[in-house]
Amino acid sequence: MGWHGRVLNVNLTTRQCGEEALNQQWAGDYLGQRGLGSKYLLERMDPKADALSPENVLIFATGPLTGTAASTSGRYSVITKGALTDAIACSNSGGFFGAELKFAGWDLIIVEGRADHPVYLNIQNDKVEILDARDFIWGRSVWQTEDHLRARHQDPLLRIASIGVAGEKLARYACIVNDRDRAAGRSGVGAVMGSKNLKAIAVRGTKGINVDDSQKFLKAVAETRAKLDHSPTQKRLSRNGTMAMMDVTNAYGSLPTRNNKDVQFEDIAMVNVKAMHTVRKSDGKANLIANKACFGCTIACGRVSKIKADHFSIDGKKDDYKKAIGGLEYESGFALAPLVGVNDIEAATYANMICNEQGLDPISFGGTVAAAMELYEMGVITKQQTGGIDFSFGNAKALVAAADWVGLGEGFGVDLGLGSKRLCEKYGHPELAMVVKGQEFPGYDGRAMQGMALAFATSPRGACHMKASPYTDDFTHVRPDGKAEIVMTTQNKAAVVDATGLCAFPGGSWDLADYAKQVDGACAGDWDAERLMETGERIFNLERVFNVRAGLTAKDDTLPDRILKEAAKSGAGKGRVAELDKMLPEYYQLRGWSEGGVPEQSTLDRLGMD
Ligand code: SF4
Repeated sequence: MGWHGRVLNVNLTTRQCGEEALNQQWAGDYLGQRGLGSKYLLERMDPKADALSPENVLIFATGPLTGTAASTSGRYSVITKGALTDAIACSNSGGFFGAELKFAGWDLIIVEGRADHPVYLNIQNDKVEILDARDFIWGRSVWQTEDHLRARHQDPLLRIASIGVAGEKLARYACIVNDRDRAAGRSGVGAVMGSKNLKAIAVRGTKGINVDDSQKFLKAVAETRAKLDHSPTQKRLSRNGTMAMMDVTNAYGSLPTRNNKDVQFEDIAMVNVKAMHTVRKSDGKANLIANKACFGCTIACGRVSKIKADHFSIDGKKDDYKKAIGGLEYESGFALAPLVGVNDIEAATYANMICNEQGLDPISFGGTVAAAMELYEMGVITKQQTGGIDFSFGNAKALVAAADWVGLGEGFGVDLGLGSKRLCEKYGHPELAMVVKGQEFPGYDGRAMQGMALAFATSPRGACHMKASPYTDDFTHVRPDGKAEIVMTTQNKAAVVDATGLCAFPGGSWDLADYAKQVDGACAGDWDAERLMETGERIFNLERVFNVRAGLTAKDDTLPDRILKEAAKSGAGKGRVAELDKMLPEYYQLRGWSEGGVPEQSTLDRLGMD
């Protein structure tokens, strides 16, 4: 219950689809989505396999609460070995695709092998077909793919997860987009899908979802929903989305600016949440025109923006770019503005739009452009590579051009599509890549936020802001004391929330007991906050086991020299570096891992893992 108990196996090499029963033991141990998907991944593939080879496995996983009446129940995850990181990847998305997959009667889709030509998957409840994508949607953007598939199958309610041209051309940080602007964004899961010649998954479901105890479940939903309604969390996120964080990190001195050379941005007022709300003199409209929600969400943090009609980025371009579309969130906003030194919010909105249209992670895209801009200012990259464009920090025209190039995999966009690590290695300056395990930093500088420094270093998928939440403590003090325990505890909590099928954002109002009572109503067995925490710890250790078997070591739990050796120039962390050497040994000890960062057998035994 909560789970359908059905897994869809798709082998693209043999072109066979089949059903198997969900392993209920694993569902009890790993719950769903991030946890269950990771367990199946570890059982189905050799972690040493090349991420872009047919031996990699691509899993679309729902949680037991996905598609139910619980608030924020539109989540699903894509789990695979990341093309950007060569580590385990778990990218979580909202929108409507996950709920539709659940309505079609499937808990997970496991995709193996590689098709010998471009294909897409069409799922209508139990009917599953592998169909030809050639001369149809291959070579098209995410938006065109969604329109074409709905037209061909004559179903406006078809839900689609697809890659754009960037994923087809194997840009290392290509993502998978559903519902036009919701993405399983990080670690290059879209490049893995492209390597399998799988353009899209279209799904339509008309089945319901059964829960274990409907009275208990609906009572839990009503109580948690009441806690969320009109709460500060809901009010803040529905009005400002996550963009309000921009002023917080800037004031604190932890806003990555110009490839982390600086930690505060002098033009913050031109790109912050107030700038999104401000009515423009030129056309009497604001950048932000509305908010919107994923399936079943009572928060509605999503942004809808419209670029200024006479802005250079859309001049002479197709009408699609002049319409309302998903706007800037904090992570895309920081990466496409302060991180590249750009103070033009319309240019940042355009770059974000191309990331949605062609399926690119805007954090990694912005991080890679920032690294390229630093290389350009050093004279390592020249106008020869950039086609004559001045690629200095702050040039909005360079940002817009870069988005067009990488989106289509053309010109200098091929180099930029490598991601910061591979780009900086190619041009002889690996130290300029602001990455962990090859993945670009989210919008927090670890010199002022020591907990986030440790969270980035130890995140299983590389630098990530969603796998731990040491925010409150980090904004309270900059000393490394006590961070190891906070990071470990919040990592375990984040892991299990990602396994439920619900969003992490209600976490500002809900504690783990609120998630637990909803899981307890939906799923068989007894689920309380304690069991959820243990499940989260089990999931985090499972991901670590995958990475150890993939060949990652303690040496990969580190940060670039800029964060470890160059003191921050201003803000709360002025004069400080990230003190990882003080936090990491304590963290390993608390985790029950060896000095080399490997889970001890006693830890795995305690968690009941084989
Ligand atoms: S809070 Fe935001 S991201 Fe989370 S489910 Fe709601 S709209 Fe989607």
